[in-house]
Amino acid sequence: MAESRGAGHAGGARLSAFLDDELDDAAALALTHHVTGCDRCRQELEALRATRSALRSLPAIQAPVLTAEVRSLRRVRHWSRRVVAISGLTAAALALGAAAYVAGGDVGEVVPPVERFLLDHLARTGDGPMPAPLGGPVR
Ligand SMILES: [Zn+2]
Repeated sequence: MAESRGAGHAGGARLSAFLDDELDDAAALALTHHVTGCDRCRQELEALRATRSALRSLPAIQAPVLTAEVRSLRRVRHWSRRVVAISGLTAAALALGAAAYVAGGDVGEVVPPVERFLLDHLARTGDGPMPAPLGGPVR
């Protein structure tokens, strides 16, 4: 049979909309007329019908539901990654500290900036002066 001329072929999306009864009456009628006279569109429509029928004949599959165990395992995995990351950072900091200690040798006397600590405390709390520190410089 000769192909219909003028309106062009329907295309898969339009044929699918036709099968789903989503076209208005005028569009559905026009498509029906076109498909009647167009082998190509008629074959495509038949193929779509066969595909839909095959898909509908498949058994329904229930989506798996996450069990409490799976959710718990996901939480554990999430936290274990964090622990590994924190452990790695801690190990790196310790290694840097050890390397600095070994390379630095004797650093001499370490004097904490007590005056600055006192001023910070006063600025943050509004309290009176802190009692004098008990010890002397840290060695
Ligand atoms: Zn056509």
